Amino acid sequence: MAAPLVRIFSKSCRQISRPWGACQAGWRSRSTTPAPDMASDHPAGPLFPPLQTYSEEESMMREAVKKYAQERIAPFVSKMDENSAMDEEVLKSLFEQGLMGIEIEPEYNGTGSTFFSSILVIEELAKVDPSVAVLCDIQNTLINTLFTKLGTAAQKEQYLSRLSTDMIGSFCLSEAESGSDAFSLKTRAEKHKDYYIINGSKMWISNAEHAGVFLVMANVDPSAGYRGITCFIVDRDTEGLEICKKENKLGLRASSTCPLNFDNVKVPEKNILGQAGQGYKYAIGMLNEGRIGIAAQMLGLAQGCFDHTVPYTRQRVQFGKRIFDFQGMQHQIAHVATQIEAGRLLTYNAARLKEAGRPFIKEACMAKYFTAEVATLTTSKCIEWMGGVGFTKDYPIEKYYRDCKIGTIYEGTTNVQLSTIAKFIDKEYDH
Ligand SMILES: Cc1cc2nc3c(=O)[nH]c(=O)nc-3n(C[C@H](O)[C@H](O)[C@H](O)COP(=O)(O)OP(=O)(O)OC[C@H]3O[C@@H](n4cnc5c(N)ncnc54)[C@H](O)[C@@H]3O)c2cc1C
Repeated sequence: MAAPLVRIFSKSCRQISRPWGACQAGWRSRSTTPAPDMASDHPAGPLFPPLQTYSEEESMMREAVKKYAQERIAPFVSKMDENSAMDEEVLKSLFEQGLMGIEIEPEYNGTGSTFFSSILVIEELAKVDPSVAVLCDIQNTLINTLFTKLGTAAQKEQYLSRLSTDMIGSFCLSEAESGSDAFSLKTRAEKHKDYYIINGSKMWISNAEHAGVFLVMANVDPSAGYRGITCFIVDRDTEGLEICKKENKLGLRASSTCPLNFDNVKVPEKNILGQAGQGYKYAIGMLNEGRIGIAAQMLGLAQGCFDHTVPYTRQRVQFGKRIFDFQGMQHQIAHVATQIEAGRLLTYNAARLKEAGRPFIKEACMAKYFTAEVATLTTSKCIEWMGGVGFTKDYPIEKYYRDCKIGTIYEGTTNVQLSTIAKFIDKEYDH
């Protein structure tokens, strides 16, 4: 078994000072009075490092995942896309590397790292394969976080240890008739003594093919509308749960997306995650955070595609010159690079705001919306810059082009992000 790079780094670095946090520690050590003026200088350097400053742990993780993705994922990407199947070795190695339990505490076999590290990991994975990135994203930003925040001691003991070592989780909210309007869901959970009976169906459930546990939003009291929505933990082998044939998709083909049927699925009351009737709040909260993960996926995807393409433009000669040397090409390449950089800043800023416990919802929507646009622009331009070969499967560019489209759809469509951003703007101008 290969050494778990990330876990090793994480454990050894837990005591290492983090540039990002070190500033605040500096304030506290000098004085117990409130933080000084934001613009003040710190003896050790400026108080506010550039947004792309990483702690030692974050840098090591980023580098480790970059190397891991190149060595252990890249060789499988084309085959996984062609076969519409995640390779078992890739799945196994994600767990071995500690990438499926990034924020889970070491007492549950997790890596014990941070949300920002998860974002960097998702970005690095997406540079190589966005399908692998979404697997890691959903596990870390939705499933593990829900269990960590809401789980009872027994639920944490039972599931967190498995989620960090060998179990995949799926998040089940969408249904055939409730997508953007997610809380009009029809799946029903009827209470009997100390258990519930779930009936209904779900659509578009990512990673369902391999998942060992499903977090299922079902309504325990339809008369209360969305206030009846409750989050249930449903094990894969529960009688009456059917995982149906996966969708045949345009992109993200290695990531399974399946409908689920619930036919009198009996779930003990102790399998409610959090409180009955609070599921809609949990779903909103998780998707707000999750959107930063999708932004990281789109960002990584755009960067990965760009990184494959620019070297080609520097080698390909037409009219006696490298095609990179034509001003018409340079301006386009510079424009796309700038868009990617802007997407990175939006994404990192949203992640840092979330980690700092500050409001981040508007910024997360902006990051997700913008990076999906940037990924669309980048992949389209990259195909053009490669000419005919960009249109073939001999190069990975066409796959990035197909994979990027999902960024405008899941975890809230682009219209939904724009509506949320507009709501915040409207409020900001309320007097
Ligand atoms: C590959 C993939 C993986 C997924 N994974 C999961 C998963 O793991 N778990 C899960 O629960 N769900 C998952 N989903 C579902 C996903 O979140 C939904 O597809 C998404 O929320 C959009 O819902 P919909 O497809 O029903 O589209 P609709 O809601 O029908 O939207 C269709 C169009 O109408 C627009 N529209 C809708 N309402 C408005 C409005 N009020 N104002 C303006 N425009 C509007 C939308 O923006 C969109 O352009 C996944 C979907 C896909 C494709």
